[in-house]
Amino acid sequence: MTTIYLDNNATTRPAPEVLEAMMPYLTEFYGNPSSMHTFGGQVRKRIEEARAQVAALINAEPEEILFTSCGTESDNTALLSAVETLPGKKHIITTRVEHPAVLNFCHYLGRKGFRITYLPVDALGQIDPAALDGAADDATAIVSIMFANNETGVIFPVEAVAPLLHGRDIFFHTDAVQAAGKIPLDVKKTPVHMLSISGHKLHAPKGIGALYVRKGTRFHPYIIGGHQEHGRRAGTENVASIIGLGKAAELARTNLAEEITYLGRLRDRLEQGLLNSCPHARVNGDIANRLPNTANISFEYIEGEAILLRLNEYDICASSGSACTSGSLEPSHVLRAMDVPYTAVHGSIRFSLSRYNTDQEIDTVLEVMPKIIQELRELSPFGRDMKANSHG
Ligand code: PLP
Repeated sequence: MTTIYLDNNATTRPAPEVLEAMMPYLTEFYGNPSSMHTFGGQVRKRIEEARAQVAALINAEPEEILFTSCGTESDNTALLSAVETLPGKKHIITTRVEHPAVLNFCHYLGRKGFRITYLPVDALGQIDPAALDGAADDATAIVSIMFANNETGVIFPVEAVAPLLHGRDIFFHTDAVQAAGKIPLDVKKTPVHMLSISGHKLHAPKGIGALYVRKGTRFHPYIIGGHQEHGRRAGTENVASIIGLGKAAELARTNLAEEITYLGRLRDRLEQGLLNSCPHARVNGDIANRLPNTANISFEYIEGEAILLRLNEYDICASSGSACTSGSLEPSHVLRAMDVPYTAVHGSIRFSLSRYNTDQEIDTVLEVMPKIIQELRELSPFGRDMKANSHG
């Protein structure tokens, strides 16, 4: 049985082209990019090429990109930089549905005495940009709002938020970890100060990320030490992974339009097929403003974990909520913030696709899922009641 991997918002398969680009920098070209000699210098040059490739993905300038170890580090760095450079300001605005990389750092700052405003979302998982206007005040150091949600794929109107902050001494950060490489991003049109990217969400390896920092933005490093990344992020560079991220960004940029169409078609076929074949199924999130690869579907009256275990028997990988919170039966904070009914929160499954998924794989899932759902419903007391009621 070959694995059908529909958990690409958790992590993606490193692209063969990415591995090929990286390999020489794990074998032959192992010099330290900070060294004076030519052996190190050629590595330094290659890092700068990767920086330009990552910059091109979001229409930034190469010098506005700094490499980090992951999306989490990029998010933490953005928040910390803002509060360090505006020491008098003790207020942060974010949303209730951010990834723990932002939420838990905000909780941490909250324990240190910061006031944190968590903006609510509506039933579709959308924020109201106008709410931000009322929330921001003279004490606000940073607004951090994700570009696209990892659980539902819902895309926030980040461009509409930016003008509300214009001319105020407030940093604006967006966690674009799930958006980068999946939808067009253009920092020339979206005036954020900082934007986070993670390699393993776009077919680069795990353990590499990037933070865009707009030219002229005051900045405070998170990792302090050597002079790497112009003193903005110390530590000898993860050379091969940086080169891998560069290649992944180039692949994503050059194939973006084609992949959006391809993934949207596959996703919609999967979603429609499941809604048609599984009673009491509902889509969570704003379907008009969503990443093309993500479907979050609730199968009411069943536990999502039970569905995942049954899918696993067919070697089909999906997720019930965020990968980082799986393993615990805590209902998803994102779906709770959307007021998704209790019976649906627990039965939610996230399918997230990539360029490597095929129509045949979708066919298999569409064949297997209705059987799984029916079997689990028969076992569930709620499901049995539901059936009795619908026939009675
Ligand atoms: N932000 C979002 C929206 C994510 O989905 C993730 C990972 O799931 C992260 C941040 C953290 O990225 P990383 O795993 O690279 O630390």
